[in-house]
Amino acid sequence: EESTEPVEHILTTAEKLMLDLPSNDTTREFLKIYSSEAHLAGTDADKRQAEWTRDKFIEFGIEDSKIETYYTLINYPLKRRLALISGPEELQYEAELREDVVDEDETSKNPDVVPTFHGYSKNGSVTGPVVYANYGRLEDFQYLVDQGIDLKGTIALVRYGGSFRGLKVRAAEVYGCVGALVYSDPIDDGPLNKEGYPYTNPAEAYPDGPWRSESSVQRGSVEYLSLITGDPTTPGYASTKDAPRINMEDSPGLPKIPSLPLSYRDALPLLKATQGRGVRGDNDWAGGLKDVDYFSGPTEGDVVLENILEYKITPIWDVIGVIKGSQEPDKAIILGNHRDAWVYGAVDPSSGSASMLELARVFGELLKSGWQPARTIIFASWDQEEYGLVGSTEWVEDNADWLSKEGTVYINVDTAVSGPHFKADASPSLKNLLYEVASNIPDPRTKKTVYEAWSEYTNRTIFPSAQPYVGQLGSGSDFVPFLDHLGIASISLSFDGDYGVYHSNYDSFHWMEKYGDPGFYYHQTMVKVWGLLTLRLADSPILPLHPGDYADALTEYVSRLAVYAEKKKSPFPVLTKAIDKLSKTANKFEKRLRNLEVQVQGYEKLSDLPSHLARRVAKVNDHLTFFERGLLDPEGIQDRTWFKHVVYAPGLWTGYSSQVFPAIADALDAGDDALVKHTEQRAALSVNNARKSLKN
Ligand code: GLU
Ligand code: CA
Ligand code: ZN
Ligand code: ZN
Repeated sequence: EESTEPVEHILTTAEKLMLDLPSNDTTREFLKIYSSEAHLAGTDADKRQAEWTRDKFIEFGIEDSKIETYYTLINYPLKRRLALISGPEELQYEAELREDVVDEDETSKNPDVVPTFHGYSKNGSVTGPVVYANYGRLEDFQYLVDQGIDLKGTIALVRYGGSFRGLKVRAAEVYGCVGALVYSDPIDDGPLNKEGYPYTNPAEAYPDGPWRSESSVQRGSVEYLSLITGDPTTPGYASTKDAPRINMEDSPGLPKIPSLPLSYRDALPLLKATQGRGVRGDNDWAGGLKDVDYFSGPTEGDVVLENILEYKITPIWDVIGVIKGSQEPDKAIILGNHRDAWVYGAVDPSSGSASMLELARVFGELLKSGWQPARTIIFASWDQEEYGLVGSTEWVEDNADWLSKEGTVYINVDTAVSGPHFKADASPSLKNLLYEVASNIPDPRTKKTVYEAWSEYTNRTIFPSAQPYVGQLGSGSDFVPFLDHLGIASISLSFDGDYGVYHSNYDSFHWMEKYGDPGFYYHQTMVKVWGLLTLRLADSPILPLHPGDYADALTEYVSRLAVYAEKKKSPFPVLTKAIDKLSKTANKFEKRLRNLEVQVQGYEKLSDLPSHLARRVAKVNDHLTFFERGLLDPEGIQDRTWFKHVVYAPGLWTGYSSQVFPAIADALDAGDDALVKHTEQRAALSVNNARKSLKN
């Protein structure tokens, strides 16, 4: 029987180097460079950083490194205004829409370098009374309607948290609002937050603590990311220079009402103007601001929301570096991080960019020592992730044909470090590899291994379990096109912490050095984790993937789906049967895999294997690579057909968090019984295809 303890592997020479060579100091230097200037997608600074990244790759010894340019839709703010212009005089005000200078933080001294705005937001001006709608979920708006509040023509004021911001704007649009304001409540990532309290750091606003301060604004995309990913004008195909484009008005990914992000200092006067008017939701509606009781309104006076932007097609720059594999060059391990930032982006994404560059440096050292990977390793520095995973999606669409054949595993690191808590989301087949790797690397703070620190943390914050928690991939970063569109097994990694400067001007080198990772030891640790994962995937004679773990996860997901459907009492016999059959096949496969592993033990490299073993291993590696491909349904999910994976997609109304068996869940939500049946059958068909891919 399978042991729950992570298996110890003997480290290869290359793996020992991978644990030795990463340096906190060079990673710090790289972060300093990336975060020294604002590098929003499509700007000159972004281009300079792309060129610099490519030049460093080449300097380190990854000679095949180049820039891939795409031509994509982007918007930049020209003029913004928010003012309460009528109603009681004492309530009227003009919002600042600008973040304060913080003396001790050098890069905060130019607060206008990237004005506070929403990527892909609708261009235009609207006027109307403001209604407070909590988190802007469907049920929040529905509650207001049920209470008799007329939402037509109003401007929704909603708070960040829970779901992806673009879907809050979408909900406002669906409920007839003419505009949306999304603000950061101090109870979310400000000093009054309660989640996981007490924190290791002082629960104070930046610069006295790590949390969001009163003028700080969370910029961010409002693309409807659960419907479409990438450039909204080229759905499903690459944004090359001469690509045909659909009109912006016809893209399901773009909002039809203007929106702005707000600080809590700018939101407070609006909540004062709703005070005593309309309804008060239950407790769940109250944020952390003093002096207001979070009434819905509408306000008596009108608010003007001006959001004037330039929209254009601009070049963007992905950097792609390739180390060709010597044994199975047609199997690619792809490492990706986005480079573009809302402003300085020291945490998001530059902690990941600096880590990837350090990893490239270390791989360069390995190459100099004579090492060659068995499989191909690709480094990708994506552009324009912040607008909707644009650089990665366009590259994946451009390269879909060979990626479908050769893409073996994708490892994403967006934010590498905002604190000390290891987090991993992954395809279930990669869980065991994560455990093995994490148990080989020391945690810099606790003298334990990363595995032990991770286990302790997830036991405390998620649920007690024999093994640390590996989450499901939802959305919000560049793994989406690889997993959801092409069915390539994926991982996303980070070290998380008390991150209260997300997408603001204060996501700076100073914040990182003071709160996120003083000493840069977690950056160094991320490089080791990422590097060791890559080496195991690139060099292990047998690919370290386990379909058995995937089958177990599916069994759990289908029971979760039954709970989800309970009201509509709909068990899923066809799907359940397909999963049961898969489990049986996967178990047999795992047994054969273990036998083969025993035979292969002692051979460090694929090239050392005698030919009869080499042939069997090559076959098994094909099975392992294509297993997850079987879980694609070419039909896609109804009304969002770009999403082809039958097991995972971003939740239709949550975005960031993953929805298992999404087509079935969407059909359940729509109350469409025929569609529920159809989607169940399609899912069963795909599970069956995955099963067949393990046969022989
Ligand atoms: N990571 C970015 C965000 O959460 C972009 C996500 C997206 O647009 O898909 O805002
Ligand atoms: Ca496209
Ligand atoms: Zn990011
Ligand atoms: Zn971001």
